[in-house]
Amino acid sequence: MLEADLHVHTLFSNCGIHTYIEMLTRARQLGIKAVAITDHGPAIGGRVTRPAFERLHDPVDGVRLLKGMECNVLAENGNIDLPAAIMQYLDIVLLGLHHNLPPGLSKAACTDLMLAAMEHNPCVDIITHANDAVYPVDFDAVAALARERGMAVEINNSKTRLGRTTPEAVRSLVDACRRARCLVAVTSDAHAIGELGDDSAVKPYLEEAAYPPELVLTRDAESAFAFIERRRENKR
Ligand SMILES: [Zn+2]
Ligand SMILES: [Zn+2]
Repeated sequence: MLEADLHVHTLFSNCGIHTYIEMLTRARQLGIKAVAITDHGPAIGGRVTRPAFERLHDPVDGVRLLKGMECNVLAENGNIDLPAAIMQYLDIVLLGLHHNLPPGLSKAACTDLMLAAMEHNPCVDIITHANDAVYPVDFDAVAALARERGMAVEINNSKTRLGRTTPEAVRSLVDACRRARCLVAVTSDAHAIGELGDDSAVKPYLEEAAYPPELVLTRDAESAFAFIERRRENKR
């Protein structure tokens, strides 16, 4: 179980089914110390909820609410769909390749789009599900740039659990990150309360690879908070 879960969806994403309060209340029951609500960016129908960013301050006692967004890489080179107006409220920015892009793009095309978006957006903290089978990227290239920029690469529990990636792809992503010595973030990518804090599908891969614990920023809540504070200046 994760102490800090940095990738969680709510009703504000089309694919989420719970509210902020339901997610945070469940997190408290599970003993999770912090939850980043990272609903999708507008390019795939995520609703930008300025009032939630502005007004909600740890609404459930005992659980720290981290405010985030899972942004989309856009087809125009280097652009992402992060609305400038909410930047000031964000604790954490995730970035991934999603279905706003046409399916069937080559690995070279997906990699170029991702690398350009990382280069142009220093506010990005974590690259999500690079091992998603639909949008293949060069793991070594993404991990190397993440390392250079102080970003982290996500090891996504949900995609692994649901078979939206293969065991070989998870292993190969973990290996690429280890070669690059980049930070990794283990997240649940929870869309429902039953998935919150779950790292059980990917934990064996990190153990098998003997991933250096100091490079796993979600190893405990304090490490996750330290990462977020270190990255905060990139959001001003
Ligand atoms: Zn995603
Ligand atoms: Zn997600």
